[in-house]
Amino acid sequence: MAVSRLIFWLLVGGLAISALRRLGGDGSPRHSASGGGSPADAPRIENMVRCAQCGGYLPESEALRGQDGRWACCPEHQGHSG
Ligand SMILES: [Zn+2]
Repeated sequence: MAVSRLIFWLLVGGLAISALRRLGGDGSPRHSASGGGSPADAPRIENMVRCAQCGGYLPESEALRGQDGRWACCPEHQGHSG
């Protein structure tokens, strides 16, 4: 019987075509899900200043500035004179 063999090859061909289309992406394009994670943990680059008394570096936001415009790491170094 040649009909059964023909049906068999039709089924095999259909499966092969479906597999090729799935691999090749011939179907509708899949959109990637929007709303991913945002880079909120990016390191902030802050200006570093140097204590005029002890020479230690610290962020400008944490540094203390004396009347003479020099940076200090702590009130003790800020008010120290001499
Ligand atoms: Zn200091």
